[in-house]
Amino acid sequence: MLVKTVLLLFFVSFGACDPSVVIVGAGASGIAAAARLLKNDITNITILEAEDRIGGRVYSVPLGDGYVDLGAEWCHGEKDNIVYDMVKDLNILQHTNKFYPEIYHSKFKRLDQNFSNLLLDTFDELIGEPNKNSSIGERLIARYEEVISQWKNDPRVYALAQEAITVFEAYVIGYEGAFSWFDISDNDDYILSDGDLYLHWNGHGFKTILDLLMQKYPDASKSLPIDDKVLLNKEVHEIAWSSKQAVVKCSDSSTYVADHVIVTVSLGVLKHQHTSLFRPKLPSDKLQAIEQLGIAAVHKVLLHFPQRWWNDSYTGNCFLWNKDDAKHISFGEGPVKDGISWLTSVSVLLPVLHNPNVLEVWILGHFVPKVEQCPDEVVINGVMYLLDYFGVAVAETITRPDIIIRNNWYTNPHFRGTYSFQTPRTRHGYHSDPAILSEPLGNNREKPNLLFAGEASNPTHYSTVQGAIETGFREADRILKMYK
Ligand SMILES: Cc1cc2nc3c(=O)[nH]c(=O)nc-3n(C[C@H](O)[C@H](O)[C@H](O)COP(=O)(O)OP(=O)(O)OC[C@H]3O[C@@H](n4cnc5c(N)ncnc54)[C@H](O)[C@@H]3O)c2cc1C
Repeated sequence: MLVKTVLLLFFVSFGACDPSVVIVGAGASGIAAAARLLKNDITNITILEAEDRIGGRVYSVPLGDGYVDLGAEWCHGEKDNIVYDMVKDLNILQHTNKFYPEIYHSKFKRLDQNFSNLLLDTFDELIGEPNKNSSIGERLIARYEEVISQWKNDPRVYALAQEAITVFEAYVIGYEGAFSWFDISDNDDYILSDGDLYLHWNGHGFKTILDLLMQKYPDASKSLPIDDKVLLNKEVHEIAWSSKQAVVKCSDSSTYVADHVIVTVSLGVLKHQHTSLFRPKLPSDKLQAIEQLGIAAVHKVLLHFPQRWWNDSYTGNCFLWNKDDAKHISFGEGPVKDGISWLTSVSVLLPVLHNPNVLEVWILGHFVPKVEQCPDEVVINGVMYLLDYFGVAVAETITRPDIIIRNNWYTNPHFRGTYSFQTPRTRHGYHSDPAILSEPLGNNREKPNLLFAGEASNPTHYSTVQGAIETGFREADRILKMYK
């Protein structure tokens, strides 16, 4: 009897100090949560990841002279940025000079560089002005019209500037990851970190941050045992959270019972799957937050060329279509909507720093889901067509890419989008939707069993890796506090 009681006491107290935790998703937030728990001696952790790799939207792959990033690419800022703080002494991050891709026009080809730069500076200035309208598109269209009206005395310049509003929209939706600038709130809660907003990883890839979180780098002997805790190809399809412990069921019929589940799936996954994923269903304020926050996608394409046809001074280029030209594109492959080809959504081509034979293409807007489904050959043919049509490359020197790498962030059911943004409907009352999203649930108020992390649940750093990591730490700390 005594032995039984001692065992029971041991079990109860052991259970109290080492709760079981299931983390759904091995992206930056899931890895951060696991690392923080393990460092604080909570070891009974299982990470269930639907894909066959860790990292989620941090996805660095080898190409050319180094790693390229299909997902997160730049560390945005140097102050109050957890990513920057973790890496700053390791001499990895490099400054990027301000992007000045040149603007090429469908009729006039390469525009005067000073004019291109003037337009890009104007975009930056207008974006930085105080917000006032419901959508950023409404404000920027109105302000842009006002600013360029000063150029009316030169009809050619004015006409070009009017057409360039499409480049302006692409600039904004690329940054926010939206399909239209009318979907983005003019006011938002994002707090920009000071310093260089485009620090790059110098060919090492953003995956370096995962190695740092897992303590594999710089000294692998100090690694946390996170790899042992991750189960790949484990798609969670139901989380029952009304009892003391949560029960997590996977598509392969395996089941996991845990004191706490940290859900880190993207906002896109929550939007598409919340009805089937949670038993009972989520409360109405949480559902409203999920519905009101925004997520869409950008399509990033990495192209490796066997021979470089551009030189070191090439800073990349945007494509500016004259409206009539856009209606009469002779390229016949890929999706078309209302008589307009997807080629009009190829927004910018950029050189990849420290990877001399690689260019990066950004495809933006409503065509993204369809272009994700196009064969690689169609995308390559389209880019080759544009380079020739816009006169970016000289036909005699241009080579065709021998490797193309891209990802289907929007159509992949494990992501359903690239990064979240605030919509005009997002901001209400005193609570921000990301804050509502982050609130834990469960019958036991002291020890809730359903917790939420992931970039979209970060009230001020949503959409970024730094934001994702902060939320992973936040939820791990929440659990640690319960067992102090
Ligand atoms: C193209 C692109 C460019 C970007 N550029 C930048 C940038 O330059 N700088 C920056 O800071 N950020 C950038 N981001 C955003 C950044 O990558 C994300 O904010 C961050 O990586 C999100 O991490 P997370 O852990 O919140 O989510 P995720 O990385 O999405 O992790 C969630 C994980 O959950 C898994 N999952 C989903 N459903 C299930 C399920 N049912 N069962 C089990 N597992 C599941 C997913 O496979 C995924 O691994 C970019 C993202 C993309 C896609």
